[in-house]
Amino acid sequence: MQKFKFRTTNDGGINQKGKIIFHNGKELETPTCWFGLSLIESKEFQLEVFKKANIEAFLSNAYDLYYTDKKKERQKLIKELQRLEICHKMDSGGFQLMKAEISGKAHKFPLNQRLVLNKQLEIQCECGVQLDFPFGPNLNKKQKFKRLNKTFKNLGELIIQIENKGIDFSFLPVIHTTSNDLELLEYSLKQLETILGKKPDIIGVGSLVPLVKRMKGTMKNNIENFLYTLISLRRKLPGAFIHAFGIGGTMAYLAILAGIDSYDSNGWIQKSAYGVIQLPGISDRFLRKEDHNRPYLITNRKQRNCKKAINEIDMFMKCGCEACKPYYNENWKDKNWKLKQKAFIGRAQQPKKLRAIHNVSLYQSEILRIREEIINNNLLEFIKSRLKFSIYYKYIDFIEVLKEKDLDELRDFPRLLEMIYNKKKKN
Ligand SMILES: [Zn+2]
Repeated sequence: MQKFKFRTTNDGGINQKGKIIFHNGKELETPTCWFGLSLIESKEFQLEVFKKANIEAFLSNAYDLYYTDKKKERQKLIKELQRLEICHKMDSGGFQLMKAEISGKAHKFPLNQRLVLNKQLEIQCECGVQLDFPFGPNLNKKQKFKRLNKTFKNLGELIIQIENKGIDFSFLPVIHTTSNDLELLEYSLKQLETILGKKPDIIGVGSLVPLVKRMKGTMKNNIENFLYTLISLRRKLPGAFIHAFGIGGTMAYLAILAGIDSYDSNGWIQKSAYGVIQLPGISDRFLRKEDHNRPYLITNRKQRNCKKAINEIDMFMKCGCEACKPYYNENWKDKNWKLKQKAFIGRAQQPKKLRAIHNVSLYQSEILRIREEIINNNLLEFIKSRLKFSIYYKYIDFIEVLKEKDLDELRDFPRLLEMIYNKKKKN
């Protein structure tokens, strides 16, 4: 039976610190971040990065393990990570399957709920995500309901399969919602309640990504929609464990403020491979001026919304992570910086690994910090400080206004939106 237990500090608010206890007794504090395995980097590379960055949780994918992990590299890596007691969530691969469907290749990948569960049991992950049917682009509402119903059918099958096997397991039921009216969300929660026999207290929510990614396109207020959905979900399920699929990077700060407990980081390897390092509250930085002229570390960066210049190199020189430790220097001179810059720059494995360790260490330490700030009742100020220089800063106020609304007031989103923005204009 379902043995995914979640305890939380929640007293009816939006933000909470909590603890998951999995069927095998392993525990994981929340909010949490699951780091995705790279399909390209070697087992040794990833093992070293995750070990040195001290991550608490990683995620794999049943679709990948069946169809792309031909040499069983990821399976071996998973074994090693499990030996380090790092918690493991296995996604189903519903998203990959959807992409295969769109390109007309789905017949090559006959994945179903039974196969997904079998892989999750064989590998012995802490948390198994059910096989779901995410919303592809340009679906009408009827098509969305159809895909939701297929997802719920799988959940029903999953529960029966677990019962038939007579085992305990921690699984994650999944819903999808994109709409900014609450109909899809409410439909999903009702269906889940019927299947589970109780109000869901563990849930994953997906298909939020297309919303966010299309933000430069035609749809208006996409980020507002996405945050509205998360806050409404939290209002409907106070104290539940909520995992948001496909939200990483800077958006994760907003999503956490809007009430989620858990998200995935799949971008760490692309960023590191691309040559980027991250600093707290500062977006991507290269190590020197490159031909593409994207921002690189400098000593006197003028920031958005801020008069004082920031010394980014100083911040980087004072990082104490495993990759930076040998170069740590409070009173660094130019030659110290040059030495560190040389070690971290370039396309070779070693500098790429150093960047990855630094970046993943930062993401992981931010998660620890977020828990601390929730306990100290200081999450809002912390997120403000992290997004101060970001284009996302303006959404913090929006979240705070929505947080004051109860479910009835949240119902009429267009009106709320108008009210919030008209009020701003008047100010
Ligand atoms: Zn570092």
